[in-house]
Amino acid sequence: MAKQDILGRWSINDSANLYGIKDWGAGYFDLSPAGEVVVRAAPGDKGSEVSLMEIISGINERGMGMPVLLRIENLLDSQISRLNESFRKAMRNLGYRGRYQGVFPIKVNQQAQVIEEISRFGGRFNHGLEAGSKAELVIALSMLHSRDCLLICNGYKDEEFIRLGLHAVKLGYKCFFVIETPAELDIILKESTALDVRPLIGIRLKLSTRAAGHWQDSGGDNSIFGLSTNQMVDVLDRIKAAGLIDCLQLLHYHLGSQIPNIRDIRAAIRETARYYAEMVKEGAPMGYIDLGGGLAVDYDGSQTNFVHSKNYTLDEYCADVVEVVMEILDSGEIPHPVIITESGRAIVAYSSILLFNVLDTNTWQAGSIPETLPGESPELLENLWLVRQSMTLKNIQECYNDAVYYREEIREQFKHGNITLRQRALSDSIFIDIIHRIAASLDKVKRVPPELVGLQEVLYDVYYGNFSVFQSLPDAWAIDQIFPLMPIHRLQEEPVRRAIIADITCDSDGKIDKFADLHDVRKTIPVHTLRENEEYYIGVFLVGAYQETLGDLHNLMGDTNVVSVRINDNGSFDFVREIEGDSIWDILTYVEYEPKNLVARFRDKAEQAVKDGYISVAERRIVLDEFEASIRGYTYYEK
Ligand SMILES: *Cc1c(COP(=O)(O)O)cnc(C)c1O
Repeated sequence: MAKQDILGRWSINDSANLYGIKDWGAGYFDLSPAGEVVVRAAPGDKGSEVSLMEIISGINERGMGMPVLLRIENLLDSQISRLNESFRKAMRNLGYRGRYQGVFPIKVNQQAQVIEEISRFGGRFNHGLEAGSKAELVIALSMLHSRDCLLICNGYKDEEFIRLGLHAVKLGYKCFFVIETPAELDIILKESTALDVRPLIGIRLKLSTRAAGHWQDSGGDNSIFGLSTNQMVDVLDRIKAAGLIDCLQLLHYHLGSQIPNIRDIRAAIRETARYYAEMVKEGAPMGYIDLGGGLAVDYDGSQTNFVHSKNYTLDEYCADVVEVVMEILDSGEIPHPVIITESGRAIVAYSSILLFNVLDTNTWQAGSIPETLPGESPELLENLWLVRQSMTLKNIQECYNDAVYYREEIREQFKHGNITLRQRALSDSIFIDIIHRIAASLDKVKRVPPELVGLQEVLYDVYYGNFSVFQSLPDAWAIDQIFPLMPIHRLQEEPVRRAIIADITCDSDGKIDKFADLHDVRKTIPVHTLRENEEYYIGVFLVGAYQETLGDLHNLMGDTNVVSVRINDNGSFDFVREIEGDSIWDILTYVEYEPKNLVARFRDKAEQAVKDGYISVAERRIVLDEFEASIRGYTYYEK
């Protein structure tokens, strides 16, 4: 594990290495000398460092409870700048004669405040929006920064969707319809004739290139989206016949999200650029090549082609995109188009952090074990006791086998009524103590018996966090997405416990037991021992993409409080927005209860209890007050 300093003391660097914060933190997250996680406004910008603990005390002072989704607005700005600057640099270096114009896909984080910030800050780069549904189009139409930004419409489009988009074109906006199915063209032709608007048309490709990763089915021949080559030819012919070939200006594909391998990205661009060249030969004016999303986030910091990572930097991505597009188009002497990407994950992932406190722990610890075994203990218990007494480095395997055997026998005899609760409890303690001793001795033996490899791993604690995986980290539950997770303070101390993190939903799936690691996925995360009367805070990082609206109301845990912070140049920070999470009242209405009626019904019950002599009138009042306070309260654990 991590090294300690010459005096053997644990240092901040050890913690930094242990949690890999410098690997996945992208220069935004680091540790302070005081052992706290700090966030910076821009990668490596030490002058702007703010401790998350400082932000938490601000949150507490404002009377908000954990869990909190913390947004750092600056990180949105920074990621938009980095993407745009990086493309500009690559184009300058390679002599590209077109330009880059990104669009943010609204589905990746639809929250008003996020879209507002992206469109406000992105305005300086003419960074536009991508809409995949009518609701998202409505958002895009109202939030688009200016006519110079692009608005790309993907997804199934009905007449209403098309008409809305055509109105936008009339208003002077560059609103593209990307044709996903041949049938859409008919609607576009009909509505644009009716409204007398010349539409801006794009075509979505079904690529034969496939990419490894979670979302590989978005691309490839079997993809549910996009036109096959025959459909493309058909669509082209019909566009020509309608006299709208000059409207066909864009080619689009989306290979899937989180593409970890740059080779797959290059292969897809190469194929797309070939189609682009063919469309130009077919007489379409074109001008825009839209490479979709897929730009990955390095969640484990390993810089590999592992699904939770990526084997390329942002600069390499941009340079490769530009280079491949140029290489293909130059060979056909085709003018350089505007390059569009629909990067969502890479823009928003860094800006949100889920913060929660730990409510309790369950450690796999032996209860107290007496000096001598109580008289009249059953023989099985005596045998287990002897195993513990006779343990040496030489016989650990044998002791392990015996301990497991006697424990099973004792459990069996308990079922038959031959062992009492107290005897069984003592046997459990002895067993646990034996296992801990064996685990501790594994470091000292020359050869670890195969059966005992990994024993240390299973002796983990359970730390109960005040949050819901289903509500706040749905991808951790649904697709085993790994997010960097670590304590955000006390990092000058060695974290001596190993734990998995359970949430408060009382669902056996409501847990995190896969953690980022440079080489592999870890089953446990190192944590500190809790202290009396002191909160212990954990942060889950890089959760800005896809998590917020996929979450559900499992166990009726609602939206968390959301706090937005802006870091100033001098390292101070402002709370720019606080959004209170769902109350129990809110949640009940989502599942069609009428909270007022629930209160009335409960009041009747209390009244009846008074009549029947269970409680006094004064007690009734207290009970009703508590009921009403609960129904208006936060759905999470409150102190
Ligand atoms: C989801 C989606 C994106 C976003 O992909 P990221 O990998 O998050 O950048 C872009 N375009 C389309 C069409 C999508 O469906």
